[in-house]
Amino acid sequence: MRNEGNVVNMKLFGRNRSYSNEITAEHSGEPVSIAGWVHEKRDLGGLFFLLVRDREGLAQVTLHKREVDRELFEQARKVPRESVVAIDGIIKGEPKAPGGYELLPKRIEVLSVASYDLPLDPTGKVGAELDTRLDARFMDLRSERTKHIFIIRSQVLKAIRDFLNERGFIEINTPKIVSAATEGGTALFPISYFEREAFLNQSPQLYKQMLIASGFDKVFEIAPIFRAEEHDTTKHLNEAMSVDIEVAFVSAEEVMRILEELIAFVYSKVALYPGLDSVTTQLEVPKIPFQRIRYDEAIELLADAGEPIEWGDDLSTSAEHKLGARIGAHYFITEWPRAIKPFYAQPIEDKETTNAFDLMHPRLELASGSQRVHSYELLKQNIESKGLSAASFAFYLDAFRYGMPPHAGWGLGVERLLMSMLGIENVREVVLFPRDRRRLVP
Ligand code: ATP
Ligand code: MG
Repeated sequence: MRNEGNVVNMKLFGRNRSYSNEITAEHSGEPVSIAGWVHEKRDLGGLFFLLVRDREGLAQVTLHKREVDRELFEQARKVPRESVVAIDGIIKGEPKAPGGYELLPKRIEVLSVASYDLPLDPTGKVGAELDTRLDARFMDLRSERTKHIFIIRSQVLKAIRDFLNERGFIEINTPKIVSAATEGGTALFPISYFEREAFLNQSPQLYKQMLIASGFDKVFEIAPIFRAEEHDTTKHLNEAMSVDIEVAFVSAEEVMRILEELIAFVYSKVALYPGLDSVTTQLEVPKIPFQRIRYDEAIELLADAGEPIEWGDDLSTSAEHKLGARIGAHYFITEWPRAIKPFYAQPIEDKETTNAFDLMHPRLELASGSQRVHSYELLKQNIESKGLSAASFAFYLDAFRYGMPPHAGWGLGVERLLMSMLGIENVREVVLFPRDRRRLVP
């Protein structure tokens, strides 16, 4: 075979390469160059079809045995599926072909020959288990549905940035390598940091609050969070992506409003995406405002539904499902007990509860947030009453000693948002290379 990957047709890397969806029957008779993967081959004796796949779709390359030279015909017949090819040809209208045209090739250049032992079938005709797909993720991503999930993920992140930028937020980046001091509650991954021990950050919480003391007023961060818990569920990862915001001079209610508006905005953007159909047909933009129920009301509803929860306990997964089924839409749970919310959640005076909230999708928790404690004394007291050492939080507490505005914020899981929006069961499906208890490669 000619040019098995050693010679590069430079022409294709400039303006001359067309995507399959840029070509139409109206261009009949014109020359064109395409490049992509050999998706399928169909041999009808005197007629041979190569389906070439690029990022934007499929192009049919048609070879008539009597009309093309023998070498070209044999080359098309022999090239293994999934090889990378560059093809120069002439466009011809063909209503039965994808995009309504076919390509009559003048030249086929094989840029990279694929081995025959494909780990997966990218045409999707032969299904595969999620584990097999994740093991060969580079190839799984060649399939239509998987590709669209990640284009949607990219659009979701863009929509979030657009929404928050539009509202005057400053995008920040806080350290992911941190010292021993943590929020508590979550297990951390230790790493070796020169002569000291350090940890991967479980959330940007403490740092984004410190920027409120700096006068940044409205900040957001989109970054990984690391949780060392040995979960084996369909909604937990050990490395997840979190959208965090923190806003000065507002209460919890105001950041809840930002959150529900953001969710509705993201849905409305994704609803416009043409590739959505190959992932789900059930996306509906949720109506806002979302219902707000207090924790004690949730407990009562659950008792009614035969799922008793002790006051002060967190909701189990089955409790979340029961409540979700009752409410049937996104909702907030507010006024959580102090005991199950972190030290930075603002307590409600004379009550055992806090101004903390969770945003729930009927299937699972999407976000947690609260109005924050901004009094140095109260914060120090809360840290100690959770059994943590105030000394190891000195770097954080200092930010509360020299002028700290009241503030509120939340953290939203990107993967939870995606899986709930797209009706995907397993969180691993919406991460390129997921990290869980067993999976560290690829
Ligand atoms: P859960 O109770 O569902 O385990 P959490 O309350 O421990 O979550 P938070 O600390 O409140 O999680 O984090 C804020 C958000 O980040 C969560 O609402 C969720 O969307 C996301 N998140 C947290 N931990 C994980 C994880 N292990 N995998 C995926 N997303 C996560
Ligand atoms: Mg939470």
